[in-house]
Order: sequence, then C-alpha cells, then structure tokens
Amino acid sequence: MSTVASAADEARSELGGTFAGQLVGPTDSDYDEARKLFNAMIDKKPALVARCANPDDVAAVIAFARNHDLPLAVSGGTHNGGGLGSVDDGVVANLSLLKEVTVDPENRTVRVGGGCTWNEVDAATHPHGLAVPCGIISTTGVGGLTLGGGIGHLTRGCGLTIDNLLSAEVVLADGQKVTASHDENADLFWALRGGGGNFGVVTTFEFRGHPVSMIVGGPTFWAIEESEDVLKTYREFLPSAPRELGGFFCYHFVPPAPPFPEELHMRKVCGVVWCYNGSEEDAAKAMAPMLEVGTPLLHGVQAMPLPAMNSAFDGLYGPGDQWYWRADFLNEIPDESVEKNIEWGNKMPTWKSGTHMYPIDGAAHDVGKDETAFNYRDAMWSQVIVGVDADPANAGALREWCVGYEESIRPYSAGGAYSNFMMDESFDRVQATYGEHYDKLAQIKAKYDPDNTFRVNQNIVPA
Ligand SMILES: Cc1cc2nc3c(=O)[nH]c(=O)nc-3n(C[C@H](O)[C@H](O)[C@H](O)COP(=O)(O)OP(=O)(O)OC[C@H]3O[C@@H](n4cnc5c(N)ncnc54)[C@H](O)[C@@H]3O)c2cc1C
Repeated sequence: MSTVASAADEARSELGGTFAGQLVGPTDSDYDEARKLFNAMIDKKPALVARCANPDDVAAVIAFARNHDLPLAVSGGTHNGGGLGSVDDGVVANLSLLKEVTVDPENRTVRVGGGCTWNEVDAATHPHGLAVPCGIISTTGVGGLTLGGGIGHLTRGCGLTIDNLLSAEVVLADGQKVTASHDENADLFWALRGGGGNFGVVTTFEFRGHPVSMIVGGPTFWAIEESEDVLKTYREFLPSAPRELGGFFCYHFVPPAPPFPEELHMRKVCGVVWCYNGSEEDAAKAMAPMLEVGTPLLHGVQAMPLPAMNSAFDGLYGPGDQWYWRADFLNEIPDESVEKNIEWGNKMPTWKSGTHMYPIDGAAHDVGKDETAFNYRDAMWSQVIVGVDADPANAGALREWCVGYEESIRPYSAGGAYSNFMMDESFDRVQATYGEHYDKLAQIKAKYDPDNTFRVNQNIVPA
C-alpha cells in the first residue's frame, strides 16, 4: 500500500468479502461522523474507521493494521478525555455495532457487547430490578470505563465496575479469541481489571447485576463561601456514612436551566451529589449530618429510578464541548488541600467547568489491592478536575486552570490519578498510576501483546 490515504480502499479489497461491518475512509460521506470524538478539543483523522460487527471483524482489523504497519486504536464509547479511541493516520477498530445486552435475571448476570454505552445497559437491566455499577453519565462507553476501573454513584455500596466483572471475551493482538475469568486466563483477567485497553479488544463483558432499582438522589448546594466548612465536614462525614450512601463533593456553577431555580442560575457553589440506595426516610437520616452545615441554598434530593440518576448530567454534558482533564487519587483531604481547593474552585474558568471528589471506599475497599490491576485500592477519593466549554477559543484557559489546580493539590495526592480521568500526561505519570502493579502489568502485556499493538491508551510497555 503506497499511502495512508489508500488504507480504506486497500481494506475494502482485502477484507471486503468477509467483513460484516462497515469500512469508512476519508473520502466517504460519513467519514466525519465516523471519526467524531466526544471531546471536541481533539480532532483526529484516521486512515480507516472499521465498524466491526463481530469478533471475526475485530480480528481482521487488528491483522490489517499489523500487516500494514498502521497504528491501531480501539473505540468503545469515544468518551476518553485524551481521545484515545482514535489515532491520526491509523486504523480505528470501532466497536459501536457490538450492542447486544442480555440479562439473566435468575442468576443476576448481564452480558454486554464491547461497544455499548451505559444507558443501553441500564435500559436492559432496570426492568429486571438490576443494575451494574457504572459512571455518572450514561452516554459513556462500557469498554473504556470498565477497563480503567469504573467509578460512580454505587461504588461505595457495590464496588467498582471491575469488581462486578465476571468474565470478558477478548480478541488478542494475534487474532486469537479467548475468555478471561477467574478460571481461564486468570492473568489476563487480572490485568483487564484496571489495566485499560492494553491487552486486547473486549467484545463481550459479563457482569454481576445488583438488585438496585429506585434510589434517592440529587444535589445539595451551598454558597462557595461556605466551602471550607462543607469540605471539612464532608471529609469526616462521608467515610463513616452507611455504604448505601454515595455522595461526591463538587465545585460547580448552578446550570442556567430547569430544574434549578432561576435565582440560583450561574451561581458558583460547592455541593454534594447524593445517591442513596434505599428508602427516602433512611436517605434523609443518612444525609442529615451534612445538612446541618451552614445554610444550604438547595437540597434537591428525591426518589427516582437509578437510570434517571445515571443520566442526570447527560443534558448538561452533551457531545461537542471542549474538555480538558486532570486528576488525582486522595487518601485524605488535609487542611492545606482544602485551602487549595477553595482557591482554585473559586477560579473556575467557565460555567461547565468544575471538580468532583468521588468516594471510592466502602465495597471498593473489600477487594484486596493485589486482586486486580487497579492500584489505588486504599485511596478514599478519586478527584477529577475538568475544564469544559463549547467555545474552542477558551481551550487554553481550560487547560491552564486544570493544570494549575491539579499541580496545587498534587502534594496531597496519593501519588497517581485514575487512568480514565487522565489526558496527555507523561510516561512517569502513567507509571505512577499503575504504580506497584506496573511491572506485573508489563509482564502480562509481554505475554499477550508483545509488539505493543494496543498502544493508543495509557500505555504499558511490554516487559
Ligand atoms: C462526560 C464524561 C463523564 C465521565 N464519567 C465517568 C464516571 O463517572 N466514572 C468513570 O469511571 N469514568 C468516567 N468518565 C471517564 C471514562 O471512563 C473514560 O473517558 C473512558 O475512557 C471512556 O470509555 P469509552 O469506551 O467511552 O471511550 P473510548 O474513547 O472509546 O475508549 C477509551 C479507551 O478504552 C479502550 N477501549 C474502549 N472500549 C474497549 C474495548 N471494548 N476493548 C478494549 N479496549 C477498549 C480504547 O482503546 C481507549 O484506549 C467520564 C468521561 C466523560 C467524557
């Protein structure tokens, strides 16, 4: 093949007869749609987007990229902050046609296609009164979120998403199709749970479902001037609260839209976003100590189906915005860190920007540090700082604020960040994130992907 531009034609001629999905290149009318990423700050132009319809297609695309020495990216829900679901001048194995979700209500298991988004999982499980713990925005991909760990409203009660992964069907770099579970390819199963997309393409995830149906959720907001009291109370309160209670601390602007009262629109606030798995009465009791702090501006908590909570932010954060990301794991939130958070929380550059501190204790701490590749098992919070805005002219300001904020709190960090909340960071930082598990991950990588075919990710270099 003479040029990258001809990759799509070459793929059609090589794979055309057997490929069940769609092959899209730069001259096709749906190319721009096919290459679009959730984060509009990132604009990549792959030579080929191969929408795979089954595991054979995935194996064929991997082989095609390898045979032609083209870089390969794998895309699930395209939400990755750093745009790791695509690659310039390379091949994208796009999994968006792998959409099947099958629920076994008796055994409480759920099989999910590798290209599903979480709203598709919720839609299938909720009618059975079941839920798989996921993230806080329902349009996020199951693939990337799960392989990095999976943090959300139910983490304290039900664990990380990976703690509920029973098995995975994987296409490896050499095209082999294998199952990874506690009983089969246990080293691969260990690595998949926190090691990201480094080891192969997961075409089906099998999860344990939890009996969660109605929850009590929503935000409590305080004036940002009260945030010293709020954050200092929160850091003591939340770890001792019952596991049924999830609640992440945040700095935000109140969105200028219903259901928020008009007089609060665009007000800079700190807050806690709650999700209680139980009755309204028990929820009120569990949250009560936080409501005694200062004077809440709004306590917008109500009973709702879990899928409503999981999609509550979807309208605010649709596709097409500019995003810049920074993050850290926290073991504690000392006074000095509270000070820095107040300083930088006050400087949010745009109304969609903010920070969240997600609690990752409770059930997530029931799993031993070495049981999965997820390195920061003992951490108490996973903090993310996001600069978000529709206007590309603000991209620089978003980046500056995120970097400045994160650098100011890094001295109080546990040492690394959640790989799914990272963007374009140095190899040292990636290594710090896989931490004490890095060497073992590098050995497993050498066994399953010795040529580093899967390298468009927070990369683990084969040992
Ligand atoms: C608005 C928003 C909200 C978020 N909220 C949360 C949250 O609450 N909790 C949380 O934990 N994370 C959250 N995230 C982060 C999210 O987990 C990461 O962005 C994740 O990478 C998204 O996965 P994806 O499949 O959508 O991404 P993609 O961009 O498609 O892929 C991301 C990475 O995963 C790999 N990958 C994806 N699918 C597969 C697969 N099937 N097999 C092998 N590799 C695969 C890709 O190769 C790539 O390296 C959020 C992200 C956004 C944008």
